[in-house]
Amino acid sequence: MDFSLSDEQQLIRETARDFAHKVVRPRADENARNKHFDVDLARQIADQGYLGAIIPKEYGGAGLDYVTYGLVVEEIGAVDSAMRTVISVQTSLVCSAILKWGTEEQKQHYLPKLCSGEWLGCFGLTEPDTGSDAANQRTRATKVDGGWKINGAKMWISMGNHANLALVFAQTDPELKHRGIGCFLVETEGQDGFQPQEIHGKMGLHGSDTAAIGLDDVFCPDENVMGEIGEGFKIAMSALDSGRYSVAAGCVGICQGCVNESVKYSKERNQFNRPIASFQLVQELIAEMVVDADAARMLVLRAGHLKDQKKPNTLETSIAKYYATEAAVRCANNAIQVHGGYGYIDEYPVERYMRDARVTTLYEGTSQIQKLIIGRHATGINAMIPE
Ligand SMILES: Cc1cc2nc3c(=O)[nH]c(=O)nc-3n(C[C@H](O)[C@H](O)[C@H](O)COP(=O)(O)OP(=O)(O)OC[C@H]3O[C@@H](n4cnc5c(N)ncnc54)[C@H](O)[C@@H]3O)c2cc1C
Repeated sequence: MDFSLSDEQQLIRETARDFAHKVVRPRADENARNKHFDVDLARQIADQGYLGAIIPKEYGGAGLDYVTYGLVVEEIGAVDSAMRTVISVQTSLVCSAILKWGTEEQKQHYLPKLCSGEWLGCFGLTEPDTGSDAANQRTRATKVDGGWKINGAKMWISMGNHANLALVFAQTDPELKHRGIGCFLVETEGQDGFQPQEIHGKMGLHGSDTAAIGLDDVFCPDENVMGEIGEGFKIAMSALDSGRYSVAAGCVGICQGCVNESVKYSKERNQFNRPIASFQLVQELIAEMVVDADAARMLVLRAGHLKDQKKPNTLETSIAKYYATEAAVRCANNAIQVHGGYGYIDEYPVERYMRDARVTTLYEGTSQIQKLIIGRHATGINAMIPE
């Protein structure tokens, strides 16, 4: 595998880094402190082409390959995971699912609005009683004249309070189990039964929006069913293949951000009449972060390379997601250690890195679920549901 970047990829990475530092970073701390979901900033990110990075230009996207998309996500993730979450959800979970599974009409109707940031989208899979066991959807879709009525509830839905379009997964026939699940493209405007509520008290991602959504007789017309009824679970899993890649790339950014902040601080901070960077034990902390950042980046590059080659990559994506997210938590922890007491307050970004990194081993499949996918590939035995 040749991991050298083309001139164009390097330029796109430089542009993303510049944008991240000049536009996103200055607002990240304030948004986190104020628990403010910055819709205006999300639109600026869209103007850069990052919300539809992997969507072909004919549908309003930037037409980037996955490796290049990963570079952009890493740069945004290095300064603000809340805004990186917006990119991951909109681009990978919503747009890539519509691109792969939508009809031509659905693609033409929704993708340009989503890529331009005119509309925000959300991905409604998790429910109050259904997390890792995503096939066990309790939300019900019932056939009515001209469409479907959806009743139930969704939990932890990123951008759920702001989304104009919600991908809602719902069971149409419980006897069919996961083969009964449908994916419904629900336009939220004018839907009284679509009732999002902000979730308060999160540990991190304070600059992102997370909703609990009640679904009370929400109507979805027939033409807004995505894929066939019964293909919903497959759609969700294929979207997560893209989403997990995006989360992993964002976590490479957190790792690199931790390295950068720690190197800078350790050279400025003096103890025992010398910079703390000169102490071997401080360098050990930094070396561990450097190794984590590099290893995570390589795994993300491999997954992106396979995606661009259109080769199977679920295993490699899970490995990248598992490693990069756990590495981000380790790096954030080490970065706080390097900063000493100053790492414990929000004057330096490492405190935010820690709080924001923590969720990444939970969402889009916990680390345990990634290990079960990896273990299944290694052994041929499905340990997800014990016999
Ligand atoms: C901030 C935030 C944003 C999110 N955004 C979205 C979103 O946009 N859309 C969406 O659909 N969801 C979203 N989620 C939900 C997220 O994907 C779920 O939280 C996650 O899948 C885990 O589900 P759960 O929380 O119900 O945990 P559970 O499934 O209840 O898991 C609890 C624990 O049990 C373990 N466990 C479960 N099953 C097994 C098993 N078979 N073997 C071993 N261990 C197991 C888990 O690993 C975990 O440690 C978000 C969550 C958060 C916190």
